[in-house]
Amino acid sequence: MSSNGKSAKREIKFTKLFINGEFVDSISGNTFETIDPATEEVLATVAEGREEDVDLAVKAAREAFDNGPWPRMSGEARRKILLKFADIIDENADELATLEVIDGGKLFGPVRYFEVPISSETFRYFAGAADKIRGATLKMSSSIQAYTLREPIGVVGHIIPWNGPAYMFATKVAPALAAGCTMVVKPAEQTPLTVLFFAHLSKLAGIPDGVINVVNGYGKTAGAAVSSHMDIDAVTFTGSTEVGRLVMQAAATSNLKPVSLELGGKNPIIIFDDADLDKAAEFATFGNLTNKGEMCVSGSRVFVQEGVHDAFVKKLEVMVKHWATGDPFDLATRHGPQNNKQQYEKVLSLIEQGKKEGATVVTGGKPFGTKGFYIEPTLFTNVTDEMTIAKEEIFGPVISILKFKTAEEVIKRANATKYGLASGVMTKNIDVANTVSRSLRAGAVWINCYLALDRDAPHGGYKMSGFGREQGLEALDHYLQIKTVATPIYNSPW
Ligand code: NAD
Repeated sequence: MSSNGKSAKREIKFTKLFINGEFVDSISGNTFETIDPATEEVLATVAEGREEDVDLAVKAAREAFDNGPWPRMSGEARRKILLKFADIIDENADELATLEVIDGGKLFGPVRYFEVPISSETFRYFAGAADKIRGATLKMSSSIQAYTLREPIGVVGHIIPWNGPAYMFATKVAPALAAGCTMVVKPAEQTPLTVLFFAHLSKLAGIPDGVINVVNGYGKTAGAAVSSHMDIDAVTFTGSTEVGRLVMQAAATSNLKPVSLELGGKNPIIIFDDADLDKAAEFATFGNLTNKGEMCVSGSRVFVQEGVHDAFVKKLEVMVKHWATGDPFDLATRHGPQNNKQQYEKVLSLIEQGKKEGATVVTGGKPFGTKGFYIEPTLFTNVTDEMTIAKEEIFGPVISILKFKTAEEVIKRANATKYGLASGVMTKNIDVANTVSRSLRAGAVWINCYLALDRDAPHGGYKMSGFGREQGLEALDHYLQIKTVATPIYNSPW
């Protein structure tokens, strides 16, 4: 086990598609390149799957579902295999973390000691659920009794984004496996490597062939083939709101498969005059700059009450300036490169838009260094609700400060967005905290903290941030059907 990222071995073992338990080339023989965002160098050439490869993967998953052991084995047996999978993930944490860094520009420290352990813990959490999936007994009338069965929904398609492939893989795959489903995973074209390594580990854990299949490829081809496939029974998607809409359309016009969508956010953090300003500044920094701001839950609209506005900005400025940028393998680094060139350019163009529309750059606001997709952590003040940076999801290291006067006003402004994923409230006044929490139209409210995500806490959106919940026992619902079985009771005494 290495404690220092710099000694990590940067070896890439798996670059093909994973279908029916084997690594295979794509049918067309097509490939694409994946880039290290810290160096802009090509890391690996990866097999590019398309519709015909998705079709093969779905056939394998269908066979594993219809005739294979996974959906038929006891919950206890599935639990044991999922626990083994979790242990194998931990044993391979260095390698998984290294792949997350070189493929996605993530930081070695947080991935090795936080995101990969969270991934294995997610498998343990859902392993614990595998033998506790049960229905209800219904007394429909004195002459008919019924019970419900909760059965695996079938073959599931998981479409995964690039901002946290390990975390996303575990979030989607663990509950689906616990439920007894089989699946086709489509990683983001920018970050296929970690998911392929997970596929290899799943085989070592004893997950039968065909249960997990991975088809790398582009969204318009491989992704669209998953969402429109007639033999996939449910789809989960995490990514942009625009593509979420396409996934839902494809599901509707194919076989009406249920979808769960985890989309973007423009999340408010509301800081009242009486808040602990040091803590609030810490959470605002951490809640925006973690993972270079590439987080759907990033608190990118920071509303500060006018009495503490200037003092808060001063504290935040110091913290943002000290957010160390550099080599993602250095454990002292807090800020790495954006995930990909397109994202780098999008963030820089939104920063320019912010300047043009009249927001003030307190610190940052430009690219960092000469190599890699680095952007300086950026703090804007004098941001108004109409500005593009206050409305659009930036998905980058950009904090916007907006001033407010009263609780009523800030509730209205915080809710005036098409999104509704997460939110934060900083105050010592319990009445204000309670009122604001109940008034915010968002899937999570973090009081006097931020990014308080937990395996046991359901995560998902209101409004155009999507629907369905991941994490928590609620995550299982998407992977289970409910069947009602009824039987007459003759001569009931009741
Ligand atoms: P995206 O939504 O295009 O990609 C996410 C996944 O969807 C990828 O696997 C992609 O291949 C797939 N996909 C793309 N088009 C598809 C289609 N037509 N059918 C099925 N699947 C398809 O995200 P992006 O372009 O990589 O990033 C754009 C923006 O999305 C970002 O700037 C950010 O705002 C947002 N985003 C959000 C999250 C999140 O966690 N909510 C993650 C990544 C990106």
